[in-house]
Amino acid sequence: MKLDVDALRYLSKDDFRVLTAVEMGMRNHEIVPAELVDRIAGLKHGGTYKVLKNLLKHKLVHHDSSKYDGFRLTYLGYDFLAIKTLVNRGVFTAVGRQIGVGKESDIFEVATEDGTVLAMKLHRLGRISFRAVKSKRDYLMHRSNYNWLYLSRLAALKEYAFMKALGENGFPVPDAVDCNRHCVVMSLVQGYPLVQVKQLEHPDEVFETIIGLVVRLAEHGLIHCDFNEFNIMIDDDERVTMIDFPQMVSVSHRNAQMYFDRDVECIYKFFSRRFNLSDQEDRGEGDSSESDAEENGRPSFSSIAKSAGFLDRELAASGFTRKDQDEIEKFIEGGTGQKDNLSSDVEELAEEEETSNEVNDSVATNLNSLHLADQHELSESCGDKAAVEALHH
Ligand code: ADP
Ligand code: MG
Repeated sequence: MKLDVDALRYLSKDDFRVLTAVEMGMRNHEIVPAELVDRIAGLKHGGTYKVLKNLLKHKLVHHDSSKYDGFRLTYLGYDFLAIKTLVNRGVFTAVGRQIGVGKESDIFEVATEDGTVLAMKLHRLGRISFRAVKSKRDYLMHRSNYNWLYLSRLAALKEYAFMKALGENGFPVPDAVDCNRHCVVMSLVQGYPLVQVKQLEHPDEVFETIIGLVVRLAEHGLIHCDFNEFNIMIDDDERVTMIDFPQMVSVSHRNAQMYFDRDVECIYKFFSRRFNLSDQEDRGEGDSSESDAEENGRPSFSSIAKSAGFLDRELAASGFTRKDQDEIEKFIEGGTGQKDNLSSDVEELAEEEETSNEVNDSVATNLNSLHLADQHELSESCGDKAAVEALHH
């Protein structure tokens, strides 16, 4: 997705106020009634409607009048809110070129005031996981405040918390700089994803280092779950950095053994294919059950994995709770490991996203009883009334 930040410069205080009002409304509505946006924003003389038109022009909100006159944030609108907040905090001052398109994210360079270049990852979790979300409809029926903002924000919070905790425990990960909404800012990794590396001076050493990381993670109670050539970066000195953490799970997860073996398998397969490490191939073939794992020299999950203490203790300290972890696991089942069908998936899902009104249906049902309850719901869902009030000053 193209991120045209030029418009950021031309947006007024009122624009952001109304954009924020739409965001607040989305905690309870997939499509926020225009009237509710107006009430939250509290601009005089019908100002909200004029501003909404401007936001629409810049594609920061989407207008939906299929059931009632309403608006929702677009990804761009959500991007702008996060970027504006991070710029206000002084985390960076400019957004540069896009450096990565992940399955569930877009990655950009950003520059700080002193010219340091960092990486900004914008999570797009809800959109890509739409199919998975659909299959969990029963669960969603009971959650009126479910939406992609929530999922993307949760993914970013998780990634930030894991990056920070892993870095503090000596793992080679980017430095976690800051996090807001669906956006994580981290140090820029020098180097390339392993998938782009055609030759290594010391493939054996790099291989050992990478397998060593999977093992060390498990010793800390964690499994990456998407540990492959797309999420491992290599620099010119063949140093390894691992990235991409929203799908990590604890070794106490019910599918832990399978995820661990899959991570190991990915690395064995890739190295035997790309770098002709023949003994890896020999070990890599065939049944990968636990007893075989011991025999063929692969790391064995049961003899490594320790308790899940790391996850609970250190991550809770970074603001990512056990409950958040349970929530997000409902949507990302340990990563997909299928990067091949990427573009068709993206297109398909984007289409579904544009045309589907399924989620709106349940909101429409709620709407009848909503008018009186709005004010109450808002203060509840916004965490505190102060947020709404702050916006009015
Ligand atoms: P996704 O979850 O969508 O797969 P990733 O975190 O794996 O997203 O990032 C996608 C791509 O963006 C990576 O393969 C890499 O090329 C690039 N990238 C991500 N983080 C950084 C970083 N900190 N520094 C440099 N490049 C990065
Ligand atoms: Mg990735």
